[in-house]
Amino acid sequence: MLENKNKNSTKLEDIGEFSLIDALTKDLKIRHKSTIKSIGDDAAVLDYKTKKIVVSTDFLIEGVHFDLSYMPLKHLGYKAVMVNLSDIYAMNANAKHITVSLAISNRFSLEAIQELYSGIELAAKQYDIDLIGGDTTSSVTGLTISITALGEANLSDIVYRDGAKANDLIVVTGDLGAAFMGLKVLEREKEVFKVNPKNQPDLDQYTYLVERQLKPEARKDIIRLLSDLKVRPSSMIDISDGLSSELLHICKKSKVGCDLYENKIPMDPQLISTCEEFNINSTTITLNGGEDYELLMTVSQKDYPKIKANPNLTVIGYIKEEKAGCNLILRDESSVELKARGWGSKED
Ligand code: ADP
Ligand code: MG
Repeated sequence: MLENKNKNSTKLEDIGEFSLIDALTKDLKIRHKSTIKSIGDDAAVLDYKTKKIVVSTDFLIEGVHFDLSYMPLKHLGYKAVMVNLSDIYAMNANAKHITVSLAISNRFSLEAIQELYSGIELAAKQYDIDLIGGDTTSSVTGLTISITALGEANLSDIVYRDGAKANDLIVVTGDLGAAFMGLKVLEREKEVFKVNPKNQPDLDQYTYLVERQLKPEARKDIIRLLSDLKVRPSSMIDISDGLSSELLHICKKSKVGCDLYENKIPMDPQLISTCEEFNINSTTITLNGGEDYELLMTVSQKDYPKIKANPNLTVIGYIKEEKAGCNLILRDESSVELKARGWGSKED
């Protein structure tokens, strides 16, 4: 995980907005020739030449999307970037630039915001992104982060949500549900800590789950892999809200149905053991948990030989005609309607 370095505390009201922006941005590196003008003017200037530009924005609001009592600021910065890059990759595009806008209450020190930025910069470095601007303002309601990501693609490579066709394979990257169970583990530790602050959390057996919650990675590698395999998905979406709701988005936009197989959904062993411990159905968690930032795509059957041996890609079902509806095929081969929220379990 990412460690915490800044221990001092400089009040933001003592330094002012411009010194804050300066402190945050003075050491930023520019990595791309396409960045003609970066921070320091009224707007940034970019040159995407013959490529199409792909743009996406997200908000992260304290108390709604994150809780700083178990989310260290450096992780939050990193995750805020991942959330946005994931949307660009879900278009089968390459992310190149971000802007970062912050609304900060006076509860935060300069050092705290620098800690947040160290996570943002780490993400920018690891994903080869230029941070080219943003906005900074005060807030009376905690911390709000809004990031806009820009990327590039050839028009013929861009993949939308509406291209799935009957008989296509439904394919997902990585494994699902871990980030949600990581949050459950952290929430439980927070309750234990409230009762007895001397209790040190023992997270050893949950490291993968906690890491998936605190330090998710956007699947830039999959965009490269698809290009290397010469596979262009017929549709794609990133999994931020849970597999079932994302698959239903694809089906609705593409005007198709689907059969999703419960026994094919990829799960990490730690997810399975922790769901048993918490007495939660692991399938429900993979369907509804969210924050996986994996990619869900549909792929033509003719591409099956190209993807079948790849450990990053799992076939979890088939696209059907619209009239077949959207179905979850359970382990006992019975079929239930796929819903955006659960399918009859108590935790829904
Ligand atoms: P303006 O008054 O035109 O909005 P600002 O003073 O807010 O300009 O910003 C000055 C420069 O600093 C601009 O290039 C802007 O993009 C950049 N900037 C402001 N806030 C941030 C931030 N949080 N992160 C990165 N760049 C920022
Ligand atoms: Mg401004």
